[in-house]
Amino acid sequence: MFLSVKELELRKIRFEETFQPGRIDFAGENLEQSSPLHVAGSAEVLAYSDGEVRIQGKYTVEMAAQCDRCLGRARFPLDGGFDLFYRPVSVIAREEEVEIGADEVEIGFYKGGGLELEDILREQVLLALPMQRTCSEDCKGICPVCGRNRNETTCDCRIESSDDRWGALRKLGI
Ligand SMILES: [Zn+2]
Ligand SMILES: [Zn+2]
Repeated sequence: MFLSVKELELRKIRFEETFQPGRIDFAGENLEQSSPLHVAGSAEVLAYSDGEVRIQGKYTVEMAAQCDRCLGRARFPLDGGFDLFYRPVSVIAREEEVEIGADEVEIGFYKGGGLELEDILREQVLLALPMQRTCSEDCKGICPVCGRNRNETTCDCRIESSDDRWGALRKLGI
């Protein structure tokens, strides 16, 4: 859905959309959109601004990825909101020398006549996902010795703790 600044200059736009998996491109992120993404919000050009756009909304979606520890499926139900400000790229040059205060709202930029809602959602979903993608907080991962999923089976493999190895190095005087 393209949010055209020309249109926004005439009126505030309210949107409510459902994006089926595949409509927002998550390729290259090792991610899968496992439910439709539902979003509702509004877009407007701020009064007395130089084409500054404010986009607000709430969304829900479920994402899935491979668990970092056990390689099983990790699910991430997301229920998020955003309130974003974008300026046209053309104003950057003029404001280059203006120092941006630390507490200033984070502002993005747009090129051309507006913004794609899909791009904004993609960014919001990626930001909302945890850095560590695990199937559960206490995922036991894969045994480095026998390769079994420790969530499913327990094995008796003995794992040398890394502390011992450091100890051995210390003894060698390294
Ligand atoms: Zn896991
Ligand atoms: Zn094992």
